[in-house]
Amino acid sequence: MEIIVMGCGTSQGVPLPAHDNPGLDLKEPRNWRTRASVHVVIEGHHVQVDAAPEFRLQCIHNGIRQVDTFILTHGHADHVLGMDDLRQFCSNREGWAIPVHSTPVGLERVRAVFPYALTERTMSGYVALTLHEMGGELLLPGGGVVRSAPLPHGREEVLGLVFEEPSTGARFAYFTDCKALTPEARALAAGADLMIIDALRPNAHPTHLTVDEALAEIDTVRPKRALLTHMTYQVGWAEYSAKLAGRSPETGLCHDGMRISLG
Ligand SMILES: [Zn+2]
Ligand SMILES: [Zn+2]
Repeated sequence: MEIIVMGCGTSQGVPLPAHDNPGLDLKEPRNWRTRASVHVVIEGHHVQVDAAPEFRLQCIHNGIRQVDTFILTHGHADHVLGMDDLRQFCSNREGWAIPVHSTPVGLERVRAVFPYALTERTMSGYVALTLHEMGGELLLPGGGVVRSAPLPHGREEVLGLVFEEPSTGARFAYFTDCKALTPEARALAAGADLMIIDALRPNAHPTHLTVDEALAEIDTVRPKRALLTHMTYQVGWAEYSAKLAGRSPETGLCHDGMRISLG
């Protein structure tokens, strides 16, 4: 399994526009964060999880040439708004729609923002999407499995995702945008090779995990390795990498363009 961190910034990205971003070292490229998403290659099948407003540039920078399945974790703008740029991926499959799996609210958001896209096949070069409610287990072509558990995130539920690759036994948990993990999500992710988890900032937030809350979840779930995502300018690369050094399980920060191979 290969995981590409397309973006790991909070909903406004890092650095914030029209703001001093105090304490943030902009000479450190890993402090420049586009909005959060990942691309997962599992049993040779390409799964794109969320599409940030920077999705087009993320695809170009990371050499993404194929999207077979799309999973939308939830309907917030920083995860939905890049979906129109799936159009070239549709053209590359002769106009056939890309299947989108999400929560009922997430699918409703897609219908509202991209009503012209809801077709099995496009001949016009526009994006084509078919919408499917995500169940607890999604079987992918090639044999990969994605299990999901709902996570609390204010007024919206978010899909917590665990990818399992039968040929290698690799397991990857992706828990973005959540205020907490649930017992079901912790059980799904227990002992995973990698867990990427929301860790917004040091101070409390009503709908996101703080860094300390994320670290407590990592200590409970005990994946083999953990990485923090969806971070604000307050979580600087050098300062937090030093703070996390030596932790067990091994824990660090995501950065845009990071690639991890499992199995
Ligand atoms: Zn978000
Ligand atoms: Zn959100």
